[in-house]
Amino acid sequence: MLIWTHIHNARLIDPATKIDRSGDLWIYQGRIAAPPSPLPHRGEITEIDAQGLVVTPAFIDLHVHLREPGNEAAETVYSGARAAARGGFSTLVAMPNTQPPLDRPERIQQQLALAAQQPFASILPSACLTRDRAGREPADLAALAQAGAIAFTDDGSTVPDETLLERLAREAHRLQRPILDHALDHHLAANGVMHAGDRAQSLGMPGISSEAESLIVARDIRLAERTGCRFHIQHLSARESVDLIRSAQQRGLPVSAEATPHHLDLTDADVQPDSADAKMAPPLRSAEDRDALLQAVVDGVISCLATDHAPHTVEAKARGLKLGPFGIVGLETAIGITYPRLVRSGRMTLVEWIRRWTTGPAQILNLPPPSLALGSPANLVFLDLEKEWTVCPAEFASRSHNTPWNGRRCVGRAVGTLRNGNWTWRE
Ligand SMILES: [Zn+2]
Repeated sequence: MLIWTHIHNARLIDPATKIDRSGDLWIYQGRIAAPPSPLPHRGEITEIDAQGLVVTPAFIDLHVHLREPGNEAAETVYSGARAAARGGFSTLVAMPNTQPPLDRPERIQQQLALAAQQPFASILPSACLTRDRAGREPADLAALAQAGAIAFTDDGSTVPDETLLERLAREAHRLQRPILDHALDHHLAANGVMHAGDRAQSLGMPGISSEAESLIVARDIRLAERTGCRFHIQHLSARESVDLIRSAQQRGLPVSAEATPHHLDLTDADVQPDSADAKMAPPLRSAEDRDALLQAVVDGVISCLATDHAPHTVEAKARGLKLGPFGIVGLETAIGITYPRLVRSGRMTLVEWIRRWTTGPAQILNLPPPSLALGSPANLVFLDLEKEWTVCPAEFASRSHNTPWNGRRCVGRAVGTLRNGNWTWRE
């Protein structure tokens, strides 16, 4: 009987301790273990040769749309979790903007029941801040936290009423849960479909200004200061927002932010007038905005990377740039896009990039830091950072294929993922 797992010849990177060394790792009963002594019989050991691979804690994605219940044609909990494992993730935070939305405790319990039916990833549901995600009446945050909500968000929109959000922030703070905010003023964003810049003008498309984001970021910083609640800004897109968050952090306020692979890789120049593939909220912005985001990820002002995996059916996206829905899938391309952008380019070290995908999100969610230390759960990703590959949406485990990177040459890939010591993906 196979009781032990022995990984050898690996380059081991532990983001919690910043250790980077070559060596062996033992797994026993789903956890990192000390080498057994005396050595068990060969028949009791699963040997994994990790020659040429980096082994590090599996990634956490704190921003994923699973679309179940309500839009199972686009994604299910099962298919989304399987896509996560293939992308190198073992833990994800599910957004509550399903249909119906996760705004009451029994719906959180239903989400957890669906999550328990698949082996690929730990799914941590977030819950709505307001009833029906409508921004008017507060949801029962205490009951939602009790049912298992790890964070609160009306993602897809912000809560526009500052007085209401302040009251909710005080309650979230009492419950020790962060608010994850989709910082976009819906009046200013109006019917915009892309960044309000030269490109939108030349295409004759309605724009979404950077101010639509930065005004809400400024409000959130105000509320973090007033209430003590952590405000985590989702999918940051504008350089003005980066400046606001940097100065809030310098003042010691509990304000953090995530950046997505698409905002770090693409700009509004990549938006095509006849396609919704590069349509997302907030929109892809200018090269200066992208460079400000890259710098903020490097210097740690942006402490998390997150995909904002947003599956949509072919039919929905076929409505085009003006009418199609916002969002792209991201779980299976996250590593292949961000590793070349951030690490191979020489911008940041490998261990710091790994921290943005592991200890960074864990800290926002008040989870123990993912680590290779003895006793840690054996949630591991095997990274082949030399591997060149081409994005082929037909090969995605996700039910949806809405990606702006079809045919893109990537470098770096998860070639294996373990969750509690069991393979959830192995190439
Ligand atoms: Zn959002």
